[in-house]
Amino acid sequence: MKIMKFGGTSVGKPERMAQVMELITKDQEEKIVVLSALSGTTNALVSIGDAMASSNKLHAKELIDKLYTHYVEFINMLLKVDSTNKKGLKVIDEHFEFLYIILKISFNDALNKDILAQGELLSTKLFCLFLEENGVDHIFLPALDFMIIDSNDEPQVIAIREKLKKVLVQYPGKKLFITQGYICRNAKGEVDNLKRGGSDYSASLIAAAVNATVCEIWTDIDGMHNNDPRIVKTTMAIEHLSFDEAAELAYFGAKILHPASIWPAQQFNIPVKLLNTMQPDAKGTIILKEAESNGVKAVAAKDGIVMIKIKSSRMFLAYGFLRKIFEVFEKYKTSIDMITTSEVAVSVTIDNTEFLDEIIKELTPLGEIEIIRERTIISVVGNKLTLDKELLGKLFNALSDLEIDMVSYGGSNHNVSILVPTQVKNKSLQLLNKGIFGLD
Ligand code: ADP
Ligand code: ASP
Ligand code: MG
Repeated sequence: MKIMKFGGTSVGKPERMAQVMELITKDQEEKIVVLSALSGTTNALVSIGDAMASSNKLHAKELIDKLYTHYVEFINMLLKVDSTNKKGLKVIDEHFEFLYIILKISFNDALNKDILAQGELLSTKLFCLFLEENGVDHIFLPALDFMIIDSNDEPQVIAIREKLKKVLVQYPGKKLFITQGYICRNAKGEVDNLKRGGSDYSASLIAAAVNATVCEIWTDIDGMHNNDPRIVKTTMAIEHLSFDEAAELAYFGAKILHPASIWPAQQFNIPVKLLNTMQPDAKGTIILKEAESNGVKAVAAKDGIVMIKIKSSRMFLAYGFLRKIFEVFEKYKTSIDMITTSEVAVSVTIDNTEFLDEIIKELTPLGEIEIIRERTIISVVGNKLTLDKELLGKLFNALSDLEIDMVSYGGSNHNVSILVPTQVKNKSLQLLNKGIFGLD
């Protein structure tokens, strides 16, 4: 069994859906195909939710109307046979009726998650109609029947495996299953999601749950590049990465992968391939247990970081001081990305600022607190980085004219991270492209 996940751009146009059909029917291997929402849909649903949350129902209605028109135009190009076209329109009407009903009732967070789920439900149902129209035998697999998260919002592979097994045994001999990425049920049984970009995470979780031969992530670029192609002019695809390297890149901002999407595949040792739907013959990136070579592979950037400096009021770092600090972050389920210490002070960074006020309040008795916002972590990722004696020199030379707030080296053998003001992020990535990779 293999897993093939197609992202928003890969299903965002009728002709792309035709390419996806071609790719998933190339061989007879059993497969679960995981689809994202059509590109732009989840953003539109987020805006609809935001408009409703701020009681701007008129604007929400305008956005729903616009999205509805988009979908009608989409199926008119996708589904050419009258009977399937009618079924397509029925699917769209059902889902949009739901959105229009929500306009009339009082809005809450659970309802917002229902709104966000509509994109993947629509894309998979419409794609299945397209397969039907083309005579491709398949099974529609509702992700909400098996994709679950626990009370800490964490997916557990074994629990997903049990549920998925029960669903799959109902279809002996079937080879092609289509399901939704991103959406899941939470511990309360409500519709929830795996956060933005979560379809990659769904694919990896399903791959781990069924012990797949491979988890293929099909997107709009030919694999993981050495730098962010949206910001840097010349980037190149990386052929091989280890799970550790890929996990660091995903966590530290390489948008091609959801931040948590590597661990399920890593835990169950399932190879992950990053492939380009528009260029299916390109090599792409293969992610396996072992690194193929040592040294730097790529840089990535993670925005929205806040730095918290805590200066000990006793002017020395007594034992127990760090524990007290960590306990505050643990209490508010806020993970720390970077940490540095000196004799009298500790600096940490966080990206989840939901409980920042509470955290500051509880840290204040421990010392003087300083908050520095609008920061970006730039991570240089590779294998056995400490062996590269020139790396730090190149890194600091490249950034010598820029302000650096923090440096983290040696935490793992795969990563050197620096914290910079977000306004110099693009410049930093460009300078590192030249300084480390010799590219423009
Ligand atoms: P999908 O909709 O298929 O999930 P995403 O937009 O989430 O696709 O991810 C693919 C995009 O990630 C690429 O188009 C590219 O602009 C961006 N990206 C950012 N950093 C990298 C990187 N290091 N390598 C490849 N792509 C990257
Ligand atoms: N549709 C969701 C999003 O846009 C999930 C995904 O595409 O991976 O975030
Ligand atoms: Mg994505």
